[in-house]
Amino acid sequence: MAKKKKLSFYLVDDDPVVLEAMAKLLKDAGNSVTISHKSAGILGDIARKKPDCVISDLMMPEVDGLQLCAAVRAHKALKNTKFIVVSAKAYEFDQKRSYEFGAHGYIRKPVNPDTFIDKIRRIFDDHIDMRFWGVRGTLPVSGPNALRYGGNTSCVTLEFPRQQFFVFDCGSGIKNLGDWLKAQNRKRVSFKIFISHPHWDHINAFPFFGPLYQQGNDVEVLGANQGDISMRQIVSAQMEGVYFPITLSEFAARVYFHDLEEQTLQVDGITVKTKLLSHPGKALGYRVEYNGRAVCYITDNEMFVETSDFYDPHYEKRLAEFVAGADALITDTTYTDEEYKTKEGWGHSCVSKVVNLADMAGVKNLYLFHHDPDQFDDDIDRKHETAMGMLKKRNSKTKCLAPREGQAFKV
Ligand SMILES: [Zn+2]
Ligand SMILES: [Zn+2]
Repeated sequence: MAKKKKLSFYLVDDDPVVLEAMAKLLKDAGNSVTISHKSAGILGDIARKKPDCVISDLMMPEVDGLQLCAAVRAHKALKNTKFIVVSAKAYEFDQKRSYEFGAHGYIRKPVNPDTFIDKIRRIFDDHIDMRFWGVRGTLPVSGPNALRYGGNTSCVTLEFPRQQFFVFDCGSGIKNLGDWLKAQNRKRVSFKIFISHPHWDHINAFPFFGPLYQQGNDVEVLGANQGDISMRQIVSAQMEGVYFPITLSEFAARVYFHDLEEQTLQVDGITVKTKLLSHPGKALGYRVEYNGRAVCYITDNEMFVETSDFYDPHYEKRLAEFVAGADALITDTTYTDEEYKTKEGWGHSCVSKVVNLADMAGVKNLYLFHHDPDQFDDDIDRKHETAMGMLKKRNSKTKCLAPREGQAFKV
């Protein structure tokens, strides 16, 4: 933000110490700043100055932060001005109300000099942070041949500027996600965990997700039921009796469950679409739409080759429609074409089918995912090269990536 373009800020806070501190941080980062100790009667001045952003406290006499936010957002001259609340109020209610009043961001006090500018930058960029915590399928792998891509099973996160936090699957990668959050001392986080399906590599590290043991966190688990077995039963059954020593009731976080079908729903103000996949049992793929962008998480999924008796062009057409134009398609590319010859009916796809899907659907970035545990790092490199070669041959605009554990992307 500051490096590219100097921005103008209008800061409103009745606490002069906080006001000066924020002004200094913003100025040091190269921005211009106007400050006001009061919120009453300043709308005209803000409208004249047309700042890129108003940063305001919530609890102020006469005109509170929400009223100021509503007035700024409703003013014609300020339609391009962002509004960020900086408040000591830690209640989720106040954050939610601020967003309802049109705020673009909510930062909790005390202002942390190490992260303040970065938080403002994130609100301005308005991108999705996508992180990979485990890219392998079926079984975690360890040892020298799994060092570059990592050895953990499926787990991907999407973080949005308004602090919505989506987790896809609870493979062993979720342990590192929990550790990463703990290192940042993140508290009172609301997680939405989307489960693709209940095979072990997608659910069995659920109880190793650290934030479950932290009071104040809120964890909703969403996924397809399996007929008469609910999502709650699916997750709790693996922790029952002889299998695991901790039960659902022992978590400190609030944990609740939501059964999904093939449907469209709003999750924390973000559109999420689901699609039943070609895999044993009921498996769901997800399409998340935010601010004109889309991320699709499609695993586990088998697209049968055209010569197979099970080839289903109707399914593939519908799947291509579902992922159409996605900015990111994260998808099951378990096998090479050669390996697939002996793995038909195992529920996973090979490279050429994935390339075909991504290219046909006009996907912008294809992320190869759910690698077979028998594949070494070098094998994944080769799979990646093969996929890139196939796309090149097709003159495709789709870019292909093989993400590694811990890697982050902006969407
Ligand atoms: Zn799997
Ligand atoms: Zn599976």
